[in-house]
Amino acid sequence: MTNPGGHPLNVLLTFDVEIWCSGWDDIDGRFPQAFRRYIHGASQAGNYALPKTLEILNAHGLKGVFFVEPLFAAHFGPEPLAEIVGLIRDAGQEVQLHLHPEWQDESLVPIIENHAAKRQHLFMYDVDEQTALIGHGLRLLNEAGVGEISAFRAGSFACNEDTFTALKRNGIRHDSSLNITMDHSGTGLPAEARRTGSHWIDSTLELPLSVSRGRQGSLRHMQIGACSYEEMVQSIQSAHASGWRYFNVLSHNFEMLVPGTSLPDWVVVKRFTRLCEFLGKHQEKYPTTGFGNGEMTDESPGLALPSTTFSANLKRNAEQGYRRVAQKWAEFRQG
Ligand SMILES: [Zn+2]
Repeated sequence: MTNPGGHPLNVLLTFDVEIWCSGWDDIDGRFPQAFRRYIHGASQAGNYALPKTLEILNAHGLKGVFFVEPLFAAHFGPEPLAEIVGLIRDAGQEVQLHLHPEWQDESLVPIIENHAAKRQHLFMYDVDEQTALIGHGLRLLNEAGVGEISAFRAGSFACNEDTFTALKRNGIRHDSSLNITMDHSGTGLPAEARRTGSHWIDSTLELPLSVSRGRQGSLRHMQIGACSYEEMVQSIQSAHASGWRYFNVLSHNFEMLVPGTSLPDWVVVKRFTRLCEFLGKHQEKYPTTGFGNGEMTDESPGLALPSTTFSANLKRNAEQGYRRVAQKWAEFRQG
């Protein structure tokens, strides 16, 4: 299948926005520093977490989708969540719902009846519990100033068949929780629903994370921190040539930071900036879009997976090796 009509490939640049306190002990003591690092990422070089991400997107006139995790606010109160939402909305970008249910047992007021034990993944909760957790996430985002939420992404892509019932009950029309490179993503769904490309699951339009086939046949999900620039661009070009309508890319609020620090990871900064330059130059062919921009459709069946060359795969291996060395150096400098 090719793209004789030359229709555009809509690119979704999606960012999962979340905070971690490096474990669950003393989260109250650790939260202020975690918030500064994960949300602002302030260093002498600049604020390379959420603020720089928004700045780079806007400098190139691109649309981004920010899946914001709100359940942490059930413990820490509404202000930090409102600050996150404010940063994103002030930049004119889209907020949608992300959920890491391992926060539920930290909530000051129980959200579900069986709330005592920490359960990490959404598929560990039954359909009524998932409905309540998603509903509570919506309420927290509403209280933080977000009006309509039309899309959802489960933390760690850990959706199952019940997630789609829970979304329907909460009136959420789009989902982006499926990642076919992960065995735990989409458990319980029929095999024909566990695939790439936008498709209907009951009354929800599923837009799975895009995947690409490397030269040696392995599948790789499209994440800024895990692909070379060349792999990303080749995958976009080949998806367009094959006639895909959507290309769904993952990143996080902290993906431009060296792990465990607030220092910029210059390899990822350069990679993300180059990708935004590329998309900014080719907006007619590869427009960036969000879920709030009108009707989305399902893909034609049988489209060839996007693919990348061996040299692009090698480039990624070299970059990831360099990043590991740079991380050791940053840890050394931080003492
Ligand atoms: Zn997440």
